[in-house]
Amino acid sequence: MIQGETYPGFTGENPLSSILMFRGESDSPDRDNLTTVKDETEGKQERALLCAVCQTPITTAKERIKKQGKHLHTFFNPTGVVYEIGCFRRAPGCLIYGTPSPEFAWFAGYSWQVVYCRSCQAHLGWKFGGEDEFFGLIVNRLTEN
Ligand SMILES: [Zn+2]
Repeated sequence: MIQGETYPGFTGENPLSSILMFRGESDSPDRDNLTTVKDETEGKQERALLCAVCQTPITTAKERIKKQGKHLHTFFNPTGVVYEIGCFRRAPGCLIYGTPSPEFAWFAGYSWQVVYCRSCQAHLGWKFGGEDEFFGLIVNRLTEN
Protein backbone atom coordinates (compact mmCIF):
# COMPACT_ATOMS: atom_id res chain seq x y z
CA MET A 1 0.00 0.00 0.00
CA ILE A 2 1.17 3.51 -0.78
CA GLN A 3 1.66 5.19 2.54
CA GLY A 4 4.20 6.22 5.13
CA GLU A 5 7.80 6.62 4.08
CA THR A 6 7.28 4.76 0.82
CA TYR A 7 4.99 7.51 -0.39
CA PRO A 8 6.85 10.62 -1.58
CA GLY A 9 3.97 12.95 -0.83
CA PHE A 10 2.18 15.50 -2.95
CA THR A 11 3.52 19.03 -3.04
CA GLY A 12 0.89 20.51 -5.32
CA GLU A 13 3.59 21.20 -7.93
CA ASN A 14 3.87 19.38 -11.21
CA PRO A 15 7.54 18.32 -11.17
CA LEU A 16 7.65 18.40 -14.97
CA SER A 17 6.48 21.99 -15.33
CA SER A 18 9.88 23.66 -14.83
CA ILE A 19 11.47 21.28 -17.31
CA LEU A 20 8.80 21.74 -19.93
CA MET A 21 9.13 25.51 -19.77
CA PHE A 22 12.58 25.29 -21.35
CA ARG A 23 11.60 22.95 -24.14
CA GLY A 24 10.06 23.68 -27.47
CA GLU A 25 6.45 22.82 -28.08
CA SER A 26 7.51 20.17 -30.61
CA ASP A 27 9.36 18.35 -27.81
CA SER A 28 6.19 17.98 -25.79
CA PRO A 29 3.08 18.27 -27.96
CA ASP A 30 0.87 17.55 -24.94
CA ARG A 31 2.31 20.42 -22.95
CA ASP A 32 -0.83 22.52 -23.17
CA ASN A 33 -2.92 19.61 -21.96
CA LEU A 34 -0.61 19.10 -18.99
CA THR A 35 -0.96 22.76 -18.10
CA THR A 36 -4.73 22.54 -18.25
CA VAL A 37 -4.81 19.55 -15.92
CA LYS A 38 -2.44 21.23 -13.48
CA ASP A 39 -4.56 24.37 -13.27
CA GLU A 40 -7.71 22.37 -12.75
CA THR A 41 -6.12 20.28 -10.01
CA GLU A 42 -4.92 23.33 -8.15
CA GLY A 43 -8.29 25.00 -8.41
CA LYS A 44 -6.91 28.40 -9.34
CA GLN A 45 -10.08 29.40 -11.14
CA GLU A 46 -12.44 27.93 -8.56
CA ARG A 47 -12.73 28.15 -4.82
CA ALA A 48 -10.48 25.36 -3.59
CA LEU A 49 -11.35 23.15 -0.65
CA LEU A 50 -8.19 22.24 1.23
CA CYS A 51 -7.18 19.53 3.65
CA ALA A 52 -7.66 21.14 7.06
CA VAL A 53 -4.44 19.53 8.31
CA CYS A 54 -1.90 20.29 5.57
CA GLN A 55 -3.72 22.74 3.23
CA THR A 56 -3.37 20.49 0.18
CA PRO A 57 -6.08 21.20 -2.44
CA ILE A 58 -8.57 18.32 -2.29
CA THR A 59 -11.46 19.45 -4.45
CA THR A 60 -13.29 22.63 -5.43
CA ALA A 61 -16.65 24.15 -4.70
CA LYS A 62 -17.81 23.52 -8.27
CA GLU A 63 -17.56 19.76 -7.67
CA ARG A 64 -20.34 19.87 -5.07
CA ILE A 65 -23.27 17.67 -6.03
CA LYS A 66 -26.50 16.50 -4.43
CA LYS A 67 -27.20 12.89 -3.58
CA GLN A 68 -30.67 11.79 -2.53
CA GLY A 69 -31.69 15.44 -2.88
CA LYS A 70 -29.08 17.12 -0.70
CA HIS A 71 -25.39 17.95 -0.64
CA LEU A 72 -24.83 17.40 3.09
CA HIS A 73 -25.54 14.10 4.81
CA THR A 74 -25.11 13.14 8.46
CA PHE A 75 -24.24 9.58 9.43
CA PHE A 76 -23.40 7.60 12.51
CA ASN A 77 -20.77 4.95 12.04
CA PRO A 78 -21.09 1.60 13.90
CA THR A 79 -19.13 2.95 16.88
CA GLY A 80 -21.45 5.95 17.24
CA VAL A 81 -19.20 8.61 15.73
CA VAL A 82 -21.13 11.28 13.85
CA TYR A 83 -19.90 12.32 10.42
CA GLU A 84 -21.26 15.21 8.39
CA ILE A 85 -20.22 14.68 4.80
CA GLY A 86 -20.62 16.67 1.61
CA CYS A 87 -20.98 14.99 -1.77
CA PHE A 88 -18.49 15.83 -4.53
CA ARG A 89 -18.25 14.65 -8.12
CA ARG A 90 -14.47 14.54 -8.06
CA ALA A 91 -11.72 14.98 -5.46
CA PRO A 92 -8.28 14.86 -7.14
CA GLY A 93 -6.50 15.45 -3.83
CA CYS A 94 -7.72 12.18 -2.38
CA LEU A 95 -5.86 8.90 -2.19
CA ILE A 96 -8.29 5.99 -2.45
CA TYR A 97 -7.55 3.03 -0.20
CA GLY A 98 -8.55 -0.63 -0.46
CA THR A 99 -11.05 -2.54 -2.52
CA PRO A 100 -14.71 -1.50 -2.60
CA SER A 101 -16.67 -2.82 0.39
CA PRO A 102 -20.42 -3.41 0.42
CA GLU A 103 -20.60 -3.39 4.22
CA PHE A 104 -22.38 -0.57 6.06
CA ALA A 105 -23.19 1.13 2.79
CA TRP A 106 -24.66 4.49 3.73
CA PHE A 107 -26.02 5.05 0.27
CA ALA A 108 -28.19 2.16 -0.87
CA GLY A 109 -26.69 0.38 -3.86
CA TYR A 110 -23.25 1.90 -3.37
CA SER A 111 -20.07 0.26 -2.12
CA TRP A 112 -17.39 2.39 -0.49
CA GLN A 113 -13.65 2.86 -0.17
CA VAL A 114 -11.83 4.96 2.41
CA VAL A 115 -10.10 8.08 1.05
CA TYR A 116 -7.16 9.92 2.57
CA CYS A 117 -5.40 13.21 1.90
CA ARG A 118 -2.74 12.35 -0.66
CA SER A 119 -0.24 14.56 1.11
CA CYS A 120 -0.64 13.93 4.86
CA GLN A 121 -2.83 10.79 4.80
CA ALA A 122 -5.49 12.32 7.04
CA HIS A 123 -8.80 10.44 6.74
CA LEU A 124 -11.06 12.70 4.69
CA GLY A 125 -14.05 10.50 3.90
CA TRP A 126 -15.14 7.86 1.45
CA LYS A 127 -15.54 7.22 -2.25
CA PHE A 128 -18.86 5.68 -3.19
CA GLY A 129 -19.34 3.58 -6.32
CA GLY A 130 -22.56 2.23 -7.78
CA GLU A 131 -24.66 3.52 -10.65
CA ASP A 132 -22.17 6.40 -10.63
CA GLU A 133 -19.19 7.42 -8.52
CA PHE A 134 -18.81 10.28 -6.07
CA PHE A 135 -16.87 11.31 -2.98
CA GLY A 136 -18.39 11.83 0.46
CA LEU A 137 -15.95 14.13 2.27
CA ILE A 138 -16.13 14.98 5.99
CA VAL A 139 -16.91 18.69 5.92
CA ASN A 140 -15.02 19.71 9.05
CA ARG A 141 -11.84 18.12 7.68
CA LEU A 142 -11.84 20.51 4.74
CA THR A 143 -11.17 24.22 4.81
CA GLU A 144 -11.75 26.93 2.20
CA ASN A 145 -8.94 29.18 1.09
ZN1 LIG B 1 -3.59 16.70 4.27
